[in-house]
Amino acid sequence: MLVVFFDIDGTLLTTGGAGGTAMRRALTRQFGVEHPADVPFSGRTDRGIGAAFFAAHGIEDTDTHWQLFRRAYVEELKRQLPHHQGSVLPGIPALVSRLRRQSNVAIGLLTGNVRSGAELKLDYYGLGGHFAFGGFGDVHHHRDRVAHDALAEAKQRTNGSLTRAVVIGDTPLDVSCARAVGADVIAVATGIHSRDELAASQPDLLLDDLSDLSRVWEFLTRAAPARPEAGGRRL
Ligand SMILES: [Mg+2]
Repeated sequence: MLVVFFDIDGTLLTTGGAGGTAMRRALTRQFGVEHPADVPFSGRTDRGIGAAFFAAHGIEDTDTHWQLFRRAYVEELKRQLPHHQGSVLPGIPALVSRLRRQSNVAIGLLTGNVRSGAELKLDYYGLGGHFAFGGFGDVHHHRDRVAHDALAEAKQRTNGSLTRAVVIGDTPLDVSCARAVGADVIAVATGIHSRDELAASQPDLLLDDLSDLSRVWEFLTRAAPARPEAGGRRL
């Protein structure tokens, strides 16, 4: 069984900035921060972004603060999605529907989004219901830990029949989290990172977008690339 994990922002869809706006408004609403700092979002987990905001504004990084922030963020996200011009990214509907038709392929999420935020975004853009499992950004500060969760769940769901995992994402952190769990990785330049930036992280396949279904399919169905530098790492 092949498992394909999709990142959300910059890979499946773009919210046109709704996510970032919702984060900043949640910080203002819950903690009175008038001008939220410019913390990096790309490839980060929501928990990690929360921690970065807390650090930037002298807010103690406690579970209580995180839960307040998370709840306010999800409420704001729901409000912001219709006020931003986002879209499903090229090739996604065809790729997802092709993968769903394959009995030997399972598709999941590997995202820094909190689970409820992921569901809101996917439902809003008509992609809800395709991804039965995955790893989310509710708990872990770092994406590699999310990848471990996602892979563990995939192994459980596929009853030990998992032979290969492929991560599809738009940031160097997607590539590194795939490596952390021995997965192959397709990097796609539909987010904020250029082809050159993504190439430096050495994905197995680098694409401008996912609109060339046959090219993606050829990669997914061929034997896993040999990477001796990985030290014989196995799923
Ligand atoms: Mg992304």
